[in-house]
Amino acid sequence: MKIFREPKKLQKWAAARRLAGKKVALVPTMGYLHEGHLSLIAAAKKKGADEIVVSVFVNPVQFGPNEDYATYPRDEKADLAKCRAAGATAVFFPTPANMYLDGHSVYVNEETLSAGLCGARRPGHFRGVCTVVAKLFNLAHPTFAVFGQKDYQQAQVIKRMVRDLNFDLEIVVAPIVREPTGLARSSRNTYLSAEEKERALAISRALGEIDAQTFTDAKGRRVTTGAIAKKLEKAGLKVDYVACVDATTLAPRRAIGKGTCVLVAAYDGRTRLIDNRVF
Ligand code: AMP
Repeated sequence: MKIFREPKKLQKWAAARRLAGKKVALVPTMGYLHEGHLSLIAAAKKKGADEIVVSVFVNPVQFGPNEDYATYPRDEKADLAKCRAAGATAVFFPTPANMYLDGHSVYVNEETLSAGLCGARRPGHFRGVCTVVAKLFNLAHPTFAVFGQKDYQQAQVIKRMVRDLNFDLEIVVAPIVREPTGLARSSRNTYLSAEEKERALAISRALGEIDAQTFTDAKGRRVTTGAIAKKLEKAGLKVDYVACVDATTLAPRRAIGKGTCVLVAAYDGRTRLIDNRVF
């Protein structure tokens, strides 16, 4: 497995692999890898990638001033071992200084799908995401890139960026990987105390119990975003938003039904958790 730290070196190698006719997959991550990330590597393998490049970069530009950039968990050694075991062929570990040169002044802004949901709650977040992902696309020359449904809005925003900026690659979206309890796996779960972890289950429970045919809960009542929010608050979470949107346009939809996505963002203590379900 190759390890790159210099953007230029990755770019040169990846360009050569593409020129040699190889299928290159990119899996962008912020590291502290878990089963969710590893499922993206597995998806790349299943899709027949010859080279699987995992990038590990806690991107400062996508964090707000009061967010957890400084404390975000990092473990380079463990990440390397996990990448190797999962079958990655290259890992890219850049530093903020070599990704953002002095005076960096070009950013990528998606202006529609980014406006609501996490975009509204985390100003500048998707600008940071689009910018770093565009840079990674230019560095890794991927045939396709794999993202997780866990970050549903992000996947839609990236797809739009690829379409609108004519990136010559395919976006693959892999399903949410959960802990046996139902909790969506996340590097941020490491922040949770045992009690908070228990509390967090209310999110996957509320989403999971919706009957996909009738859109009713376990008690047979039609589920609304308001009812979900109430359940989460009752469990002790602080709801950031519960929204029902069109699964492709992310436009608000009044009722949970076929073709919609229900998204949740909630604080469990100081930790912000997200989850979603597509119907
Ligand atoms: P992150 O390191 O949290 O920025 O995530 C990197 C990539 O892994 C993103 O495409 C995420 O959507 C994806 N990912 C994170 N958690 C999960 C999960 N539980 N299941 C599937 N994909 C995930």
